[in-house]
Amino acid sequence: MSAREYDVIIAGGGLVGGALACGLAHVGARVAVIEAIPPSHAEQPSFDERTTALAPSTRNIFTAWGLWSDLAGAITPIRHIHCSEQGVLGCTHLDAEAEGTDALGWLAPNRALGATLNRRLAATAGADVYTPAELTSLERRAQNITVTASGAQGEHLLRGSLLVAADGARSRTRDMAGFSVAMQDYRQSAVITNVTPSRHHDGWAYERFTRSGPMAVLPISEGHSTVVWSLSHTAAAERASEPDEVFLAQMQKAFGYRLGRLKECTQRHVYPLHGVHAPRLAGERVALAGNAAHALHPVAGQGLNLSLRDAAELVEIVHSALSAGEDPGAEPALARYSQRRRADIERTRAFTNSLLRGFAIPGRFPRAVRGGALFTLSRCGPARRAFIRLAAGEMAPVPKAACQK
Ligand SMILES: Cc1cc2nc3c(=O)[nH]c(=O)nc-3n(C[C@H](O)[C@H](O)[C@H](O)COP(=O)(O)OP(=O)(O)OC[C@H]3O[C@@H](n4cnc5c(N)ncnc54)[C@H](O)[C@@H]3O)c2cc1C
Repeated sequence: MSAREYDVIIAGGGLVGGALACGLAHVGARVAVIEAIPPSHAEQPSFDERTTALAPSTRNIFTAWGLWSDLAGAITPIRHIHCSEQGVLGCTHLDAEAEGTDALGWLAPNRALGATLNRRLAATAGADVYTPAELTSLERRAQNITVTASGAQGEHLLRGSLLVAADGARSRTRDMAGFSVAMQDYRQSAVITNVTPSRHHDGWAYERFTRSGPMAVLPISEGHSTVVWSLSHTAAAERASEPDEVFLAQMQKAFGYRLGRLKECTQRHVYPLHGVHAPRLAGERVALAGNAAHALHPVAGQGLNLSLRDAAELVEIVHSALSAGEDPGAEPALARYSQRRRADIERTRAFTNSLLRGFAIPGRFPRAVRGGALFTLSRCGPARRAFIRLAAGEMAPVPKAACQK
């Protein structure tokens, strides 16, 4: 069997693999995506019922690749962020207008993100998607890497300069390529649902540290809000299986009445939460991206945004190598990727874990300190702006495409 030739082969065509393929095709690279579960399938794990908070870095990247305007009809802007802790007086309020910007972030349904990416890939001549298919073998040579994509349409041999593992937190490609990884059990599951409050959200996003775990209540279309409530596994199972009115009463007790009365909720879904940290990001013609490289707790809404900055860095490295007639999968290119991504990944991971750990410390004194910190953050301009830049994913070093033009 003769091999089909590409510049980059991507294992996993979820949010990160799909976006990376769009970005690479946008700069003229020939790209193949091997995806186990087709986008239209009800069990597709990336383009599912969740709604994802997109940071300004993601808006900038999607704009650079011509994808943002395709999403316009599906997104809801965040105009205000309110951060509080149950039973504590201090709170933080961030206001887009006061910061001189149109929005602090946006909410996009994962299904709409998937539809946008897959529409683009289907319309792009330089991108081939093999699905349903899995990568079942890989063979590295000095000049290239050859993989087998096995699926419903039989076996295909694909050859490229670079293989990217973007097949999620439990990446098989990463294991086959010999990368080690540290897994972290957060001992929590996230319950997600959409609620209908009696008051319109008017663009307000709430992060509430409840006694049972962090709860994000984020604005979506038609005045509804989407909820991500991280709880112990037992509490999450209870919240997910109880009748709607019991769940709404529990949520109202923990969240309060900022949006008025919570009237209805949609079916709840549960996601066990695990962290992933790969000490080595690339080598020997393979690079890791997205959850395959680093999975984070959703408390700060950073996982996908960080991952898309991996994708943007890869696009820039592959583009500059191809433009210079160089090999995008050779060691200098991979070393550049590892070196350029390290600081952003470490910083975002530390930010996420410190929020999680800081708000988990029990006792009156830690609560009083947190209340003071939330109060101060609102009123101290430099601290507030540094916090916003960190959450926006624009704090250097990040790929050029992630920065505001
Ligand atoms: C409850 C929750 C809420 C979140 N909210 C936010 C948020 O608001 N903002 C944010 O930035 N991030 C958020 N995240 C994180 C975000 O969802 C992840 O960062 C993102 O899904 C990572 O995408 P990925 O493509 O790397 O992995 P995945 O989404 O896991 O996709 C992996 C893809 O690879 C495919 N695959 C798996 N194995 C194989 C194989 N062997 N062969 C071929 N294909 C394979 C899968 O079918 C899938 O399509 C949240 C996460 C959770 C759990």
